[in-house]
Amino acid sequence: MRLDKLLAHCGYGTRKDVKALLKRKQVTVQGEVETSAKRQVDPMDVLVNGEKVELPPTEVHLMLHKPEGYSCSHNPSESPLIYDLIPEIWQQAEPKSAGRLDRYTSGLLILSTDGQLLHRLVHPNKKVGKRYRVVFEGTLAKDAVAQVEKGLPLPDDDRPCLPATLTLSDPDDSGRGRATLLIHEGRFHQVRRMFEALGAKVVKLHRDRIGSLELPEDLPEGHCRELTEDEIHAMT
Ligand code: URA
Repeated sequence: MRLDKLLAHCGYGTRKDVKALLKRKQVTVQGEVETSAKRQVDPMDVLVNGEKVELPPTEVHLMLHKPEGYSCSHNPSESPLIYDLIPEIWQQAEPKSAGRLDRYTSGLLILSTDGQLLHRLVHPNKKVGKRYRVVFEGTLAKDAVAQVEKGLPLPDDDRPCLPATLTLSDPDDSGRGRATLLIHEGRFHQVRRMFEALGAKVVKLHRDRIGSLELPEDLPEGHCRELTEDEIHAMT
């Protein structure tokens, strides 16, 4: 493979960045400084600043702390996209998200190259819980908790939602309602539609848990990290 292609592929930036790296004599091939971008190389022979180059993984499992305002789509016309937040080295494996969060929802997203894992996380039969923190305006139906527990019908859906768990909390400082909703499926805009059906409007929505996996407090918004072996194991 061409040296500049290899280095770009391994996360050393664009071809232009790689050219600059070569010009600074930071790359050796078989122990000799190499400055030609065109040189055909075996990745095993290449060192950058004395370190072996690492080929990007072909399998990745990630958690992302999605900020509000990002779309889960691949369509550039909907940018900014969550995929812009994923370091190039992982993007190359083309991980897909397990379901979607809508643009104005923040929180935990799992992305993986493992189709079976993605399927398990989103399929309603697998009953993987997704927990949402909700801030809402308006007054919920008096029997909201019971309706949700029974399986809430949605006006524009022919099947009621699967039984879910709604827990109400004290209002926030501006008097807006706060609640936690645990659901086991992922219909289009489900949480917003459920609150609408109960007489309220969601003004803030954040997912902080999928199955046994909680969004870690030390993962800042807009950042992602690889799932640990234990975390992957817990989901399978
Ligand atoms: N329900 C919604 O309404 N939006 C989301 O992003 C996720 C669940």
